[in-house]
Formats: sequence, C-alpha cells, structure tokens
Amino acid sequence: TWGRVCDELLKSVGKNNYSTWIAPLRLIEMSEGIAAFEAPTKFMRDWVSRNFAEPILRELRAAGVAAERIDIRVPALRAIPAAEISKPAVAPAPARARVARPVDGAELPGAPLDARFTFDSFVVGKPNELAHAAARRVAEGGPVTFNPLFLYGGVGLGKTHLMHAIAHELQIRRPDLRVLYLSAEQFMYRFVQALRERQIMDFKELFRSVDVLMVDDVQFIAGKDSTQEEFFHTFNALVDQGKQIVISADRAPGEIKDLEERIKSRLQCGLVVDLHPTDYELRLGILQTKTEAYRAQYPGLKLAPGVLEFLAHRITTNVRVLEGALTRLFAFASLVGREITLDLAQECLTDILRASDRKVSIEEIQRKVAEHYNVRLSDMIGPKRVRTIARPRQVAMYLSKQLTTRSLPEIGRRFGGRDHTTIMHGIRKIEELKDGDRQLAEDIALLRRLLES
Ligand code: ADP
Ligand code: MG
Repeated sequence: TWGRVCDELLKSVGKNNYSTWIAPLRLIEMSEGIAAFEAPTKFMRDWVSRNFAEPILRELRAAGVAAERIDIRVPALRAIPAAEISKPAVAPAPARARVARPVDGAELPGAPLDARFTFDSFVVGKPNELAHAAARRVAEGGPVTFNPLFLYGGVGLGKTHLMHAIAHELQIRRPDLRVLYLSAEQFMYRFVQALRERQIMDFKELFRSVDVLMVDDVQFIAGKDSTQEEFFHTFNALVDQGKQIVISADRAPGEIKDLEERIKSRLQCGLVVDLHPTDYELRLGILQTKTEAYRAQYPGLKLAPGVLEFLAHRITTNVRVLEGALTRLFAFASLVGREITLDLAQECLTDILRASDRKVSIEEIQRKVAEHYNVRLSDMIGPKRVRTIARPRQVAMYLSKQLTTRSLPEIGRRFGGRDHTTIMHGIRKIEELKDGDRQLAEDIALLRRLLES
C-alpha cells in the first residue's frame, strides 16, 4: 500500500518535494492509527512533520488506511564520536575555553566575512526557504544532522550570503568552535603554496583541526586534479570526525563537469538544496528591506509609490543587480535632490533595464545545448536522426518554445527549415519524457539556469 500511497503523494506534492522529503521516509509500522516512519535526520523529521503530515495522512486514508497521526523517528545509528556527544548544545561557559585553541583568524586561513551578510538581512521567500532553513539548522551548532550541507544555485542568489550568515551566527552561539570559511579558489591557493613551501603537513593538520569547514564555489576545483584529491581527503577526514561541512556551487554535484565521481557522490551524501531563481515577491521583499536601510542613510529622500514594484518586475536577473540598481537610484536621487519616481528610475537605470530585458535567442539556446551534450552546433540544424543528436535537438526546440516568444514555424526555420509539426512533436516528446527521466529533467533545469542568468 505504501508504494501506492507514494505514487499519489508524488502527484500531490510534486516531484521535487517528493524526492527530497517523501522518498527518504521508511514506513516502519502501522498500529492503532499511528503510522510510524523513519527519517534519516532530525531536520527531515521536523520538516516533514511540519509540512507534509497532512498530505501523507490524506493519501493514507484515501488508500483505506485508518491513520490518525504520523510519528517520525530518527534512527540513532550514526556513530557519533564521544567528544561530540559530551559537548553541550549551547555555548559552554568561558572557563571551558580550550587552551589548545590557536589564535583565531590569524591562524585559520579563512576569508574575511562580510558583516552585512547575516540572517537578519537575508530575506526569505519561496525560492530560498529551504536553503535558509537548512543554513539556520547548521548555524545552531548542535550535533551534525546532515553532512555536508550542499547549497547550489545561479549567480547572485545568496549562497555566499548564507554561508557568511552561518559563520556569524556560529561565532555568537558557539564561540568554542573553530569555523573556517573560504572559497575553493583560496583553498587551492593555500594548497599550492603549502606544496611549494614544503609545508603540506601543516596544511593538512590545519584543515583537519577545524570544527566547521565552509567552502564556497566548489565548482572551481573541477579539473584541478591534485587540489581535488586534497579536498577529498580533507573532506573525508572531517566527516569521519563528525565535523560539519558546508559547500556551495553554481550547480548540483552531479552537474559539475570534471569533478571526480567519488567527490560527487560524497557531496551528495548530505542535504543538497538549491536556491531557485528569485520570484517577484522575493525581489520586492529584498527591495523593501534594502530601502529601509537607505531611508536611514538618506533621510528626507522621497520614494514615489510603484517604483519598487517596477524594479521587482523588470530586473529579474539576480539579486546583486537588483541591489546595484537600488543603490544607484538612491545615490543619484540624493545627488540631484529629486524624488525617486518611475521617470527618474527609467532615466538613471537605462542600461540595467535594457540588459535585463535581453531575451534569450534561439541561437544561444542551440549553442548552450550543443555544448552541454557535447554535439556539434551544426547538428542542431542538420538532418541527423540518431538519438544522441536528435534528443539534444529536441531539448533545444523545447527550450526555444519555453524561453522565447517565437512561434513554432519561426522556431522550425531556425532549426534548419523544419516543419512546425516536427517542432511540436519534438517539444511534446521532451514534455513526455521529462517527468519520468530525472537526468533529462535536471539537464533542462540546468540549461534554463544557464540561459536565464
Ligand atoms: P551568490 O554567492 O549566490 O552568487 P551572494 O550571496 O553573493 O550570491 O548574493 C549577492 C548579493 O545579493 C549580496 O549582496 C546578497 O546580500 C544579496 N542577496 C542575495 N539573496 C538575498 C536575500 N534573499 N536577501 C537579501 N539579500 C540577498
Ligand atoms: Mg558567491
């Protein structure tokens, strides 16, 4: 029955939710109206209880199971090092401060933290709520529940902001922990330097002595063999000691080209969450939050109604651009001593608005798709019908329909003069396959992100 209930849940909660939250659940028993499940982590238990108890109960009942409530348990099977267990969940009294603790900051080769990137200044919306919740959980500094936390998403969507926020929060809650944040590029730089100066043992010791390691933009080490190798060992050593690791990248672990398989699979072991492209509400929320800060900075500056809405509607690229626009607008308005109106915004942000209006072209789609599947660009418009070429071509047709305003005959013309029914067939094929083919769905999601950013 659970299998059938799962099929229904897949339909009702959607594929993403299903694979993230429902699929990992194991039904262990059903008795006296209580459906007992096992979830791999406490975080998942809490999240599922809070957000999916209703749909699960509903589908169980629909399948004829007399369930009144669900009970989710977390198995205590992971070997937690003794040291970890005896550690209190809250910051210990200063008297317990470790003597062996080296001078912080000076000794840890981390990157400086941006004081503005805190949880307080992070605006939460649908596209980033999961990533935010997971980051919060890590920032509590309690026992490790998922390892690593892998955050990914397009540029300017808040990955670095969240990682800094975790570090800030941990400094407050758990000053006893050694937290190291750095970019993958810095990791490589340090490693190469250690090699050159024959201090590789020091390097290893240092990286293995931290309690929380955060590596930003890990895609950077793809293709850099010895750095990857070292990263892998550092990663394993820390995980074995029960230390928390947080990683970010611009795409999912499986999508990072030239990254060793064993690293990919290690990265997938914990919780993988993505920051989705912003939606209108989130953009507006961010603008409102930033505006409040600016009001203090530029007292007396007037903001006409509708300006923020206009910006949230028109600037959809990324949060960094959105922020840049607002900064410029306030600076400009205060300089010329005018009220911030729609006209002023249009005048002062012409370039940003124009760039943001840029639509993806079919040629660009064909190029990116060809690149992704490693086929020739000419095959996109050519006549070859083998699957390895036909499928990518159909993906490109599908994306052309999704991302541009071109009609089917127009798309057909750009695909080597194909008939509009051929295009329609290609699009349908992808729509059909996409639901059952995870890899294909991920390919499409990735390409969309690349094309839209
Ligand atoms: P990424 O590392 O994903 O490329 P960043 O974390 O550097 O992106 O974010 C880019 C800018 O946008 C930063 O100034 C950051 O503070 C801001 N930003 C991104 N998301 C949010 C958010 N949800 N709330 C507030 N600011 C945000
Ligand atoms: Mg970043």
